[in-house]
Amino acid sequence: MPGDPNRPIQSNISRNKLHMRHIKPGATIGILGGGQLGRMLAMAAARLGLQCHVFTPEPDACALQVVPRRTVASFSDKAALRRFASDCDVITYEFENVPAETAALLASRKPLFPDPRVLKTTQDRLIEKNFLQALGIATAPFAPVETAAELNQEIDSMGLPAILKTRRFGYDGKGQALIRNRKDVAPAWQRLGGRPCLLEGFVKFEREISVIVARGRDGKAICFDVTENKHRHHILQMSLVPARIPQQIDAKARRIAFRIANAFDYVGVLAVEMFVVRNARGRTLLVNEIAPRVHNSGHWTIDGASASQFEQHIRAVAGWPLSKPIRHGTIRMENLIGLEPDTSSKRLAAPGTALHLYGKVAARPGRKMGHVTTIVRVAR
Ligand code: AMP
Repeated sequence: MPGDPNRPIQSNISRNKLHMRHIKPGATIGILGGGQLGRMLAMAAARLGLQCHVFTPEPDACALQVVPRRTVASFSDKAALRRFASDCDVITYEFENVPAETAALLASRKPLFPDPRVLKTTQDRLIEKNFLQALGIATAPFAPVETAAELNQEIDSMGLPAILKTRRFGYDGKGQALIRNRKDVAPAWQRLGGRPCLLEGFVKFEREISVIVARGRDGKAICFDVTENKHRHHILQMSLVPARIPQQIDAKARRIAFRIANAFDYVGVLAVEMFVVRNARGRTLLVNEIAPRVHNSGHWTIDGASASQFEQHIRAVAGWPLSKPIRHGTIRMENLIGLEPDTSSKRLAAPGTALHLYGKVAARPGRKMGHVTTIVRVAR
């Protein structure tokens, strides 16, 4: 059915992969990237009797502490990538800025999930927004901007406040500048200009939510309960589950996540960040961003659900059936950001808390050092 947004865009590669046999316990999953997401993926894989081989350019990457095999090399080191591929049965990644050539080389040798074509869309905010628009999914107003003159033109038609974002390599508010009034325009352009940018209308949202969806190789998709997120200085500070949203918005958020995962013919875990906007006609949803990987707002699932986002991702890339996760109750997840986590804090001894520290060598402002999950109320 041409034009049907729910129709998967399947390449021959992904069609073949769908029929590829699942891997067996004891097999090796390669993970590109060595941060905390890779670490928690490897820990989930170990619990499932699978081994992980982490490929990272950083010798002190925290995922290396929990895996039996490692490659510390640049993502452009072809010989190292070939050796890595030959050691793995299937390969995945924990961050979305994997260079296209790295992904292509690995995909030519071993099954790589999710399909590298997804990266092309999600690495560039403009391509991502166009993709969402083509699926009929609402976003904040946006316009590409390449020169200072274009920026001023777009501000004339979009109005202020607005946010200038670099099209590529932005995360946790990096590569973003809020433009409140005309005085902010020149400093924002000075800071970010010179690179292709996107101007986005500022959304006065009621709350931010995310949906973590897992999709298996057989195309079956399951999402976790919708999560409400609070950010501070653009960095996720806290997640609450279930999100405090009406039932029809909850259902709509899930439908949007399924639609995106199906359109990508996705295999693995995907996160969709959304704004809940309230106006005179009621509430509506705008998608802010797609993360083609496990996501910080899904960390609550480790202690707050019967199967975590990390287990779901490993199951999906291994070709195993997905779990139908059951939430243990009302859950709160708080990030430990910047400073050395205070392990003597009384808060950690409160009933229902679980502490996760990522083993990072140095604390820096804004750096995610760990998180605490609290089961606030047990499900009955
Ligand atoms: P991002 O890097 O796009 O995920 O943005 C990080 C955070 O900045 C989001 O979670 C929001 O809190 C805020 N933000 C991003 N874009 C917008 C927008 N268009 N309007 C209002 N707030 C935004």
